[in-house]
Order: sequence, then structure tokens, then C-alpha cells
Amino acid sequence: MADDADVIVVGGGLAGLVAAAEIADAGKRVIVVDQEGEQSLGGQAFWSFGGLFLVDSPEQRRLGIKDSFDLALQDWMGSAGFDRDEDLWPKRWAEAYVAFAAGEKRGWLRAMGHRIFPVVGWAERGGYDAMGHGNSVPRFHVSWGTGPGVVEPFERRARQAQANGRLTFKFRHRVDALSITDGAVDGVSGAILEADPVERGKSSSRKVVGDFTLRAQAVIVASGGIGGNHDLVRQNWPKRLGEAPKNMISGVPEHVDGRMIGITEAAGARLINRDRMWHYVEGIRNWSPIWPRHGIRILPGPSSMWFDATGTRLPSPLFPGSDTLGQLHYIMSTGYDYSWFVLTQSIIKKEFALSGSEQNPDLTGKSWLMTARRTTNKGAPAPVEAFKTHGVDFIVRDNLADLVGAMNALSGDSLLKLEYVKAQIEARDREIENPYVKDTQVMNIHNARKYIGDRLIRTAKPHRILDPLHGPLIAVKLNILTRKTLGGFETDLDSRVFGNDRKIMPGLYAAGEAAGFGGGGMHGYRSLEGTFLGGCLFSGRNAGRAAAKAAG
Ligand SMILES: Cc1cc2nc3c(=O)[nH]c(=O)nc-3n(C[C@H](O)[C@H](O)[C@H](O)COP(=O)(O)OP(=O)(O)OC[C@H]3O[C@@H](n4cnc5c(N)ncnc54)[C@H](O)[C@@H]3O)c2cc1C
Repeated sequence: MADDADVIVVGGGLAGLVAAAEIADAGKRVIVVDQEGEQSLGGQAFWSFGGLFLVDSPEQRRLGIKDSFDLALQDWMGSAGFDRDEDLWPKRWAEAYVAFAAGEKRGWLRAMGHRIFPVVGWAERGGYDAMGHGNSVPRFHVSWGTGPGVVEPFERRARQAQANGRLTFKFRHRVDALSITDGAVDGVSGAILEADPVERGKSSSRKVVGDFTLRAQAVIVASGGIGGNHDLVRQNWPKRLGEAPKNMISGVPEHVDGRMIGITEAAGARLINRDRMWHYVEGIRNWSPIWPRHGIRILPGPSSMWFDATGTRLPSPLFPGSDTLGQLHYIMSTGYDYSWFVLTQSIIKKEFALSGSEQNPDLTGKSWLMTARRTTNKGAPAPVEAFKTHGVDFIVRDNLADLVGAMNALSGDSLLKLEYVKAQIEARDREIENPYVKDTQVMNIHNARKYIGDRLIRTAKPHRILDPLHGPLIAVKLNILTRKTLGGFETDLDSRVFGNDRKIMPGLYAAGEAAGFGGGGMHGYRSLEGTFLGGCLFSGRNAGRAAAKAAG
């Protein structure tokens, strides 16, 4: 049977778009198959904040940050904690990825028109020792235009290739099987879903109106992770984190269903590190949801006080923005699947950012005027204020007794004792007077403010939580929010997939979240943030280049 293209890419998310653009630019014919409609092109990346992990960038240098490949690799390895035989390729991918982030990543993107917001963010700050988890320095570079600003160059390249006849999109085509002939993957088959004009990100119809079969010399699986499928998240939940949470909200659209992972595994591909996932603990229910159980992640600055469901402050160094996996581990050990931030109006207006392109209209819309308001510190950004007013997880009160009463009413558990919460806040407040203190969270605040980016737009001036001049008081109920899949298909550095016999499966490649962003889990157990979009860029590029080359 004649081939329909040289390569088929399953998934029109960022990884698939990057791979397809590379294949077409290498002069080969490529088909991009996606179960969603054209309006959802770009997948999760469109919704993303567009944060990118870069090392020793001009943006960092301008802010006086001294970064290097060695420091970043030290941080990566300390966070990943690779400890398994299966970590051979993930570790090789990690080293190659850090080199990419310290090398050609920024220039490659820039040549395609991508730009970066000048204040570099500091995610996952750790708090252990130099070899432990976390970013030693700020490295989270927000794309000008957020997620859509990352998708745009690759969509443009793909559209050009479409116009030249080298790339074909097949939307509403859901792959249900891979075809294998004489041991080589050579095509896909599946169902054609009915056209559905549903808005981007909303759940679309699954009504089947036909079927299809496509042949090519190679197939790249770039179908994303499992975060929209809570059954799969629970199935893969690792024992080391306790029981899977009873309640979770979704940080990804429903198309992140993990179905293609099962299909690819059934075809013989080796799926590794499936128990490694990256879910957030600062999820809030979206008052204006787009997808089912839609939750938003708060990207918190360092000052909010963090209490578990019983009203005990999270132990050091589990402060906002320090160690996502450590926080998840601790919270699940309490027997409850939620926790609380307690903060002031002064903290929310400077320190709360919400992850997602639609929650950052200033950066997404590339408006310098709107963005400049972040530094003037007159109020929280409008989307944060909207959550404060409409969000079911937000409580605003003038005094602590009323606040704690409302927190008990919201959770329905009545676990919080006013005197206990008050004693902990007052103790912390006594540590505020001196710049050298015992409380590690307050130390962290002083440390953060030595970085100009934090002092400008991210870390409030230290003050007493119970100081009415900084009020009103705010409590936020934090839910567990599913997001990223860290494990995936084991691949070599050309993104070629290994089979269960540990040999390369001819014709099969995997990229993006489906490949654990490269190798089957280049993050190990933890991420330094901004590494997912970058992982799609790097693994999508490697897969596209290698598949195009192999197509002869
Ligand atoms: C709100 C939000 C904020 C984020 N912020 C950041 C950030 O700041 N920095 C960062 O690094 N990362 C961020 N991320 C994560 C990042 O966006 C994703 O990990 C990444 O975009 C995944 O891309 P992908 O191409 O691997 O998969 P996806 O984007 O999930 O695309 C996969 C595509 O495959 C299609 N598909 C799946 N199965 C099939 C099938 N059987 N047949 C046909 N098609 C199929 C899907 O419809 C989808 O279009 C964020 C994510 C979200 C949701």
C-alpha cells in the first residue's frame, strides 16, 4: 500500500507541532492527526503560562543573576533524584536538555520571533542543601504572549508547510491503533469524530462518524499525558505519597486523556516511570470554568502562611514556592487532601500570580502598559481580584476569628481551632521586627528580597499578618490539581521508542509529555519548572529531525 506521508504525528500539541514543522522543513511529507478540532491546535501549551527554563540567559545577566550549566545541572540532578535502572535514558535526556537550555534554546526561539518578559521568575526554590531540590537562582522566563507566544512560531511554520503541500492536518481524527508490518510501525488507524464547533478547551463530542487508516514510514506519538483522566492518575498514584486524593481538580483540558499512552503500550512500547507525576497543591476551583473540574494553580510568592487541614503550619522548608512534591507528600500524610494559605491584602496584591494564558491578559495580550501595572503595586492583577470576589475557595475577613470561622464553614470539617492558628501567626509575627531571625520562612522572605525581580513584583515587604494596616485577612482553600505526567515512553536521544524487549521499535518515536518529555522521564521525581514546554520543544525537535532523516 502506498504511503500517505513520510511521517505521521499523533497530536497537534506543542511537541507534535514542533516535530511536524521540523519534518516539513527537512523536505518531507507529514500528516498531523488530532482528535480535537482545528480550534484546539496547540493543545495544552496554548493554555500555559509560557514559562521557560533557561540557563545563563541575557535576561538573568541583566538582573545580576549568575547562572551556569554546572549550577543548573547540579540543581536538576538534586531535584530529579534518579535512582532506578530505568533512569539511564532519562538521565541522558536531562543532561542534554540542560545543555540545550544553557545553549541554543533561547537563540533558536528568538530567531523565530519568540520574546521574553524581562523579569525572571524564581520557581521551586528548594530549601534543603546545595545538592538538594530546587533552583539555586531564578530561571523561570515567561514568554511574551505566554503560552500562545510559544505556540505561535511553530503553528506559523506548520501553516506555511501546509500551504506548500508538505503538511496535512487531520483534525477530529482519533487514533485507536498503531499498525505494525514486519516489526516496523508504519501507520495508524482510528475513528473520525463528528465536527464540533465547541470553544477551544471545552470537551468535544465523541460521536464517531467514520473510520480511517493512514500509512507512513514512521509514527511520532505526541499525544500528551494523563492529567485530565483522574482514574488513570489514581491508578498510577505512587504508594510513597500515601492514598490518592479523594478530591482533585483538573489543571488540564479533558483531551489530556492518556488513551494514546495505553494504545502505544499495547503495541509493545516500553512505558517507564508511570508513577512519577507532577501535580500541584495550590489549586483553586475556577469560578469561570472552561473544561470539566477546571482548576487554576496559584503561583505563590514566599510570604503566605501555609496551614494543613488541621491548622498546623507546614514544616520548614515547605513554604509557598519551595518544593511541590514535598508539599504534596506532607499534605497527603495529614489524611486530608486540602490545605490553607492565610495572608494579607498586601501579600495577595504583590505575590499572587495565576498560571494560565487566560489568567494573564496583560502578558498574553503583549500589553506593556497593562504589564507595567504589576510593578506599581496598586492592587492585585484583575484576574486575582476576580477570584477574590467570585472564587469559592477565597475568604476575606477583617479579623482572624471571623476568618477561621468561615474556613471551618467552607471545609465543613471544623478542624481549625482559633487559639491554635492565632498562636502560630502571632509567633511568626514577632519574628518580623529584625532582619536576622529564627523563623526560616521569614529568613526566606529577606533572602528573596535581595533579588531585584522579587523585590519589584514578587515579594511583599515583610509585615505582620495580623497588622490591620495590611488587611483585610485572606484565606484560600487549596486543592490538589492534576497537571503533568513525568514518566512516559523510554526513548533514545533521537526520540526512538524502545520496546518491551529493550530494543528500538523501528518506525516509532515519542515526544513531549507522552515521552516523559524525553527518555521516559527526564525530570526524575521533580521539576524545576518551565521545563515542560522546553521538554516539548527539545524532544519534538529531536523526534522530527530524526524521523525526517530516517525517512531517507
Ligand atoms: C494551564 C497550564 C499552564 C502551564 N504552564 C506551563 C509553563 O508555564 N511552563 C511549562 O513548561 N509548562 C507549562 N504547562 C505544561 C505544558 O503546557 C504541557 O506539558 C505541554 O504543552 C504538553 O504538550 P504535548 O504536546 O506533549 O501534549 P498536549 O498539549 O496534551 O497535546 C497532545 C495532543 O494530542 C491529541 N491526542 C491525544 N490522544 C490522541 C489520539 N488518540 N488521537 C489523536 N489525537 C490525540 C490531543 O487532542 C492533543 O491535542 C502548563 C500547562 C497548563 C495546562
